[in-house]
Amino acid sequence: MLREKIPVGDLFIGGDAPVTVQTMWKRPLGETIDDVLASIHDFAAFGCDLIRFSAPRLEDARIIGSIAKRSPIPIVADIHFDHRIALEAIRAGVHKVRINPGNIGSREKAETVLRAAADAGVAIRVGINGGSLPRTLRNHPDRGEAMLLAAEEEIGILEKIGFSRVVFSLKSSDIESSVKANTLFSQRYRYPLHIGLTESGPLVPGTVKSSIMISRLLLMGIGDTIRVSLSEEPIKEVMAGVEILKALGLRKNGVRIISCPRCGRSTFDPHAFLARYEKELLKSDKSLTVAVMGCVVNGPEEARHADIGITGAGREVIVFRKGSIVYKGEAERAYKAFWDQFSSFEG
Ligand code: SF4
Repeated sequence: MLREKIPVGDLFIGGDAPVTVQTMWKRPLGETIDDVLASIHDFAAFGCDLIRFSAPRLEDARIIGSIAKRSPIPIVADIHFDHRIALEAIRAGVHKVRINPGNIGSREKAETVLRAAADAGVAIRVGINGGSLPRTLRNHPDRGEAMLLAAEEEIGILEKIGFSRVVFSLKSSDIESSVKANTLFSQRYRYPLHIGLTESGPLVPGTVKSSIMISRLLLMGIGDTIRVSLSEEPIKEVMAGVEILKALGLRKNGVRIISCPRCGRSTFDPHAFLARYEKELLKSDKSLTVAVMGCVVNGPEEARHADIGITGAGREVIVFRKGSIVYKGEAERAYKAFWDQFSSFEG
């Protein structure tokens, strides 16, 4: 079932729009807006499409609104319990508000927020979380179904006032119940879906679990925007999210890196090379494949078949471009030759 397509700032979520990647700001809003904006520009360069900020206080809503006015990507305000903060965020110019109508105080307050959002053209994300289900559903034996039922309670409020600029998320820290909730929801409703595991953990376990869950859904055609939620800096969430989309062929732009793990045979160090260049490569939106290889066992073939490749080969390092050798010699010059080729490559 094709999802509704809703605008969020300059972006679209759902329908035939590309799947987007998002992250969340992880510190209190104590630093200057210029510093926050510099970070957002960096996240955007790595492929982040939108970013969410918590707004526990009224003044946070105003700060987030100021950020939204100068941000290169849409800004989402995350609000619980106090509908006045949601109203202030909408007034201040955020592009989307994450609330749960059911926990914003009362049905009347939820309706006030939804009407204000409708008047301002602001989207809403309703986020159902398996860890904070309504009391009536907490002992439900099936977590996936319980999340669906919680979402349906919220839909009742939305439909009463005809508000449809909505994205839903149904998340838990468990893969199976999250997949089930999103699958059931997508069979019944056309609201776009923000997918991801919540509280998925530190970098490696969190990325692995999130990738499995998100990929299972995306491969079924479910999911319009993704977040890899990690106990890590936002940039790691963005990098993981973008790599999931690239691996599934859902994001064509960007550099695909093939690199060997290195072993006792290596005569060129892929780890050191990537420590120097990985971020610059991943920030590029050129569409090409790069191979970084340690020795002659697999190096020359992988490097030859990539758009640009660098590999150890005995005492020398070879740089390939589209299958042809463009440099052969010592490592430091090979670095430069590689980077010159990359810079001049029209991807
Ligand atoms: S390419 Fe060479 S260095 Fe890299 S893992 Fe394979 S054998 Fe080891």
